[in-house]
Amino acid sequence: MKTLLNYIDGTFQPAATGDTFADINPATNQIIANVAKSGEQDVERAVSAAQRAQHGAWRQTSTAERADLCDAIADHLEANLEALAQMESADTGKPITTARTIDIPRAVANFRFFAGAVRHGAQACHPMADALNYTNRKPLGVVALITPWNLPLYLLSWKVAPALATGNAIVAKPSEFTPQTASALAEAFHAVGAPAGVFNLLHGFGADAGAPLVAHHGVNGVSFTGGTTTGAAIARTASASFKKLSLELGGKNATVVFDDADLDQAIPGAVRAAFTNNGQVCLCGSRVLVQRGIYDAFVERFAAAVDDMVVGDPSDPHTQVGPLINPAQQEKIRSYLQLAGEEGGRQIAGGSPSGLAEGLHADAFFRPTVFADLAPECRTSQEEIFGPIATVHVFDDEAEALSIANGVRYGLAASVWTRDLQRAHAFATALDVGMVWINTWLKRDLRVPFGGTKDSGVGREGGAYSLAFYTEDQNICVQLAES
Ligand code: NDP
Repeated sequence: MKTLLNYIDGTFQPAATGDTFADINPATNQIIANVAKSGEQDVERAVSAAQRAQHGAWRQTSTAERADLCDAIADHLEANLEALAQMESADTGKPITTARTIDIPRAVANFRFFAGAVRHGAQACHPMADALNYTNRKPLGVVALITPWNLPLYLLSWKVAPALATGNAIVAKPSEFTPQTASALAEAFHAVGAPAGVFNLLHGFGADAGAPLVAHHGVNGVSFTGGTTTGAAIARTASASFKKLSLELGGKNATVVFDDADLDQAIPGAVRAAFTNNGQVCLCGSRVLVQRGIYDAFVERFAAAVDDMVVGDPSDPHTQVGPLINPAQQEKIRSYLQLAGEEGGRQIAGGSPSGLAEGLHADAFFRPTVFADLAPECRTSQEEIFGPIATVHVFDDEAEALSIANGVRYGLAASVWTRDLQRAHAFATALDVGMVWINTWLKRDLRVPFGGTKDSGVGREGGAYSLAFYTEDQNICVQLAES
């Protein structure tokens, strides 16, 4: 049995209390590791280590040295890609093919991208007739990075890489459900000889480790990705001590398909948007809005394509949908399946998975499910389910589509499918969301702003936005001639 320890001040160590918790493979319901269960003492140790690093030699490192460190970590992760993909699949239940082709390559790319971003970055300069302003970008100091279970290393590295490249010292708290690749990231820091205290890892629960970390006076900034309710609690705590805060929260995103869309692209696009990673991506298009003229044809083909998805053993490279991560998520999905029926939904795709291999934990597996005929205002259509359930809705014109798309508390993302680019531009601009894809979904360029409006979060990540978050601008004005 593996033991996963905290990584503090350059050493792997158990929790101060010696407490552990079990890491469970959701596909088999077997315990795969015992994990350090951190509390306030561990938070204190980790923040102190990060503060020492921040006040020591790490502060003097050059941009080039930090970029090289990011590249070394990327190389180490890439060299261990298969082992990391196996860990990610075992922790989350995601198909091994997803972990191999999306999660781990993206984590590698995150480190390479931010190495390049700081290497090629420029500093602002505002010359005056008799003086020169230049703006330093100083690291925030100690940053707390808190991440969810759906894309564990992908999202953790999306924060660690820019924080490191800009010279911060890090205390990371991954989800307790997905500790393995976070530990592997600590091993990567250790293997490449990163200075002690620059990256610290605390395993454990939100209440025991996450909350005291956010509240700690030694922490200068908090970057959080997770649920909206947790984000609100973190915002309350962080704002009391004026910490810089980035919140990437939930979504209830619309996929909007107009009459003139190319259905050969829109249908697989809508399936991918709804059910990638079992519908557990904050960007998933869980509400599919379809114009009346193509509604019947679309629904028939969409439902058939969803029913074709391969559900089963995540270690099989052909599997597209694995188990749900934990009993709470499983119960949540069961409750929404029941609610959708009670609210008048007509199930057009889904049902119980059949033919699961022996040894798999049947309670954790669900077929991707689609409901039609639900009102856009009902709970199933409004609440973030974060699982394999999507709804389809009919609309007559752009105004109605816009009103349904914008009529939720969230404002993260949307995709719009049409051949009319003028309409697409106008419609996209009117959407109250942070990101819109036209005739595609989840096409990512790491330079662009990533984040949402309304209850989907505060701030943006990506490229220059991440570099700005993890730094504090300091303007210096030099008098050049007598005024
Ligand atoms: P949670 O909000 O439950 O947890 C996220 C992280 O916060 C976990 O590490 C959790 O620890 C920790 N945490 C919980 N309570 C506190 C607290 N009081 N103080 C500090 N940390 C705390 O989210 P999930 O892990 O369930 O992830 C699913 C959610 O994440 C969905 O709502 C999804 O939309 C959102 N998400 C948003 C993305 C975006 O970019 N906008 C991307 C991916 C997901 P513990 O595990 O112990 O509870």
